Amino acid sequence: MLQALSLQPAGALEEAAAIAVTDRTAAQMGRRLETAGIKELLYGNLEHPRWDEVAQRCLTCANCTMVCPTCFCSTIEDTTDLTGDHAERWRKWDSCFTMDHSYVVGGSVRASAKSRYRQWLTHKLATWIDQFGSSGCTGCGRCITWCPVGIDITEEVRAIRETPSATSETPLPS
Ligand code: SF4
Ligand code: SF4
Repeated sequence: MLQALSLQPAGALEEAAAIAVTDRTAAQMGRRLETAGIKELLYGNLEHPRWDEVAQRCLTCANCTMVCPTCFCSTIEDTTDLTGDHAERWRKWDSCFTMDHSYVVGGSVRASAKSRYRQWLTHKLATWIDQFGSSGCTGCGRCITWCPVGIDITEEVRAIRETPSATSETPLPS
């Protein structure tokens, strides 16, 4: 499709304009997230009291996961018609904030809001690094904008960083 368009290569002017847009956008971002040692910080604070505090506010509505550009959780739904001749399997968006997402025989592994928020944040900022070699957070801020109760991922990490818990010897997940 692009080849069919009569385009010309970007020149210095266009490149400068593109850089200016990204620089201006970056300058408008008021929040900061200190990422040095963040994986070790989060792995070492799995029992930090801040998780209980944020769980008091978190509605587990899943808004943050629906707007996050790097969230990819999905689930499978099987359906059949009444005759049993036709079956379909659909993959649907899901969220680690739903009870069903961690359901295994006997119940949900992450039954509490605390465990689900902790799962989400530590995946974004810590276990993602083990999985993919980079952070799972682009810094876009969408999860902050769309959280109905104003939970801010940068504030949550800062709170843990400022008061690391006494359980900081928790071993790293293998
Ligand atoms: S700020 Fe990070 S965690 Fe929040 S929506 Fe953007 S990429 Fe996802
Ligand atoms: S958007 Fe806010 S209230 Fe909803 S699940 Fe995410 S952190 Fe919790």
